[in-house]
Amino acid sequence: MRLVFLGPPGAGKGTQAVRLAVERKLPHISTGDILRRAAASASDLGNQVRRYLEAGELVPDAVMNAVVEARLRESDCDGGFLLDGFPRTEVQAEVLDGLLAGRREAVDVVLYVDVPREELIRRLSGRRLCPDCGANLHVDSLPPGRGEQCPSCGARLRQRSDDRPETVANRLEVYERTTAPLVRYYEDRGLLRRIGGLGTPDEVYQRILAVLTAGRQAHGPRSHRREVAC
Ligand code: AMP
Repeated sequence: MRLVFLGPPGAGKGTQAVRLAVERKLPHISTGDILRRAAASASDLGNQVRRYLEAGELVPDAVMNAVVEARLRESDCDGGFLLDGFPRTEVQAEVLDGLLAGRREAVDVVLYVDVPREELIRRLSGRRLCPDCGANLHVDSLPPGRGEQCPSCGARLRQRSDDRPETVANRLEVYERTTAPLVRYYEDRGLLRRIGGLGTPDEVYQRILAVLTAGRQAHGPRSHRREVAC
């Protein structure tokens, strides 16, 4: 299965993508994670992308296309993959299509996780990460009276620099301008499946499974490869 997760920042794509990737034994390719790791190092890529991440701006298409092309060439992607955070522009979507066509492959399904803007702002501005155990939390879920401490390991929680209010507003604006048009791009190709992103992560995950199962049943086991094959 070659699957793309689409949706605004804060929609919960990452959480869902990790779970689905584990269950389907597919590599989870998060371009945000790749770039954050690079930005934390002294690599050439890190030096190129750091300022874009901090401002909540998109990294130029040429850089992103090269990053994803190299990643998809790795052998763990031969049997499929799950892309989270790419494509984010129409140019990137076209490059992905071209890249896969060169391998006689195609995107099977695009899951569009839809969440209203006010909820995205609430989620992003309250999101905290534990630097020690990696927990991903929201300030509203922390036990009262203990400040911003990780409930599992006690470390002081951190906010991603691009989750600060001024950067969140810019990321949402960038999303509306450049990524939202991809909904139409994939709808036109019959690949888009809408997933309501409100509710618990488990509820959203069940909706994803239902959509993938419906796709399989609708097209049958001998479906054309471009249709949902999970
Ligand atoms: P994410 O974790 O997916 O929200 O991505 C964090 C940041 O990484 C974004 O705000 C962008 O600066 C950058 N980024 C991630 N994926 C892409 C992409 N496909 N194109 C351009 N920039 C990206």
